[in-house]
Amino acid sequence: MSDFLEQISSQEYHESVFDALREQDGQIYDLIIREYERLQNTLQLIAAENQCSRAVLAALGSIVQNKTTEGFPGARYHGGCEFVDDIEILAAARAKETFGAQYANVQPHSGTAANQIVLTALLEAGDKILSLGLDQGGHVSHGDRVSFGGKFFEVQNYYVNRDTFVLDYNAIRDQAIEFKPKLIICGASAYSRVIDFKEFRRIANQVGAYLLADISHIAGLVIAGAHPSSIDEAHFTTTSTYKPGGPRGGLILMGRDYDSTISVSGKQIPLWKHIQRTTFPGVQGTPYLNNVAAKAVFFKETLSEEYRARQFKIVENAQSLSDCLVKLGYDVLTSGTDNHMMLVNVANFREGLTGVIAQKCLEDCGIVVNMNRLPYDTKSMAVASGLRLGTPIVTKNGMGAEQMQTISELIDEALNGVKIETNSQYSIDESLRSEIRNRVKQLCGRFPMR
Ligand SMILES: *Cc1c(COP(=O)(O)O)cnc(C)c1O
Repeated sequence: MSDFLEQISSQEYHESVFDALREQDGQIYDLIIREYERLQNTLQLIAAENQCSRAVLAALGSIVQNKTTEGFPGARYHGGCEFVDDIEILAAARAKETFGAQYANVQPHSGTAANQIVLTALLEAGDKILSLGLDQGGHVSHGDRVSFGGKFFEVQNYYVNRDTFVLDYNAIRDQAIEFKPKLIICGASAYSRVIDFKEFRRIANQVGAYLLADISHIAGLVIAGAHPSSIDEAHFTTTSTYKPGGPRGGLILMGRDYDSTISVSGKQIPLWKHIQRTTFPGVQGTPYLNNVAAKAVFFKETLSEEYRARQFKIVENAQSLSDCLVKLGYDVLTSGTDNHMMLVNVANFREGLTGVIAQKCLEDCGIVVNMNRLPYDTKSMAVASGLRLGTPIVTKNGMGAEQMQTISELIDEALNGVKIETNSQYSIDESLRSEIRNRVKQLCGRFPMR
């Protein structure tokens, strides 16, 4: 009887969490509700965003957040870890299963932290990294000079081809042979074509470098087989966990190289163990175990048929949106996409139009996107020539080819209607703005947040 009563009260505890927020802090509660309404009434087309499930939200908002410990399951520095150990063990096992990996580390607080851990594990100050430049679609955590990597390591960038905007593996190989990096990083934040991880590994082997594949943007596609996997090609695969639709956070995976050895202070230890020690105490402190629990919930979802089928649908939707935009006269880089995103050169669409004007006027109309510098862009970071669009959220909410056509038309009306004043200033007719905004709202109303 007393067990039964306790069970009821723990359930009530969890159900009362949001009531507590409403009662205790109406200001934050109201802002969260307004954010919900923003998401529900506008189109989310940011390629780096996704929408996690309610079950993931529940794990994030759970009392697991209160547990403090250091270390890994079975080797913790604090007592009381029996349940959080099981949570982390499940999370890692599910990550391995869904990615087909030999090793999974679910503790990185973010995709950036996952990269920082791998870089710290492999490199000494001054060692060489070869990575895709930030202005070419790479990520700041791949050694850009404003990041920790650029501060401590010697970084050289490789480029996409100037005419095709596609990676040129022969040029990358020549550069690697010349530069002799200790680490090659592949993976991108703004690149819409398949990345050939096998070819990158051949290049890495040829110059004796480690290969890190950062699949943050395409992790969901990799899970489903909608993009080739990096797991057994790269020595290390890192990803953010929110981009494929889980909680915010990072993940480090290893495939067939997981137990090859590395020399650390004169001793040979397995790579995975070295990654583990670099995670804690090397780079991070206590893991966020609520976040680890939420990752576990998410990895279970990724094993479902619904999740896997959705990843293919995301690509299909990106391809239809891209096709529609091309038909309307837009310059989509590489004329299409193999993944969930596309890059659009808006400066080539209309005299004077820039990325920043396009982003802002679309936002006025309820269409949320981000401006993006394009490879070899002549405009500054704050102005940019391009937009990056992605389809994970609209697909999650059930939209298909017909809605992609509608979205392309809405975008087109806004970008044709905007009055350009300078390269960052514009105005838009109030009647046009509210007309597009209402149509966006109606469209979103038919596909509520799932
Ligand atoms: C988004 C992204 C990251 C960063 O992930 P955070 O969790 O936001 O730190 C790292 N690498 C690539 C390629 C990304 O696109």
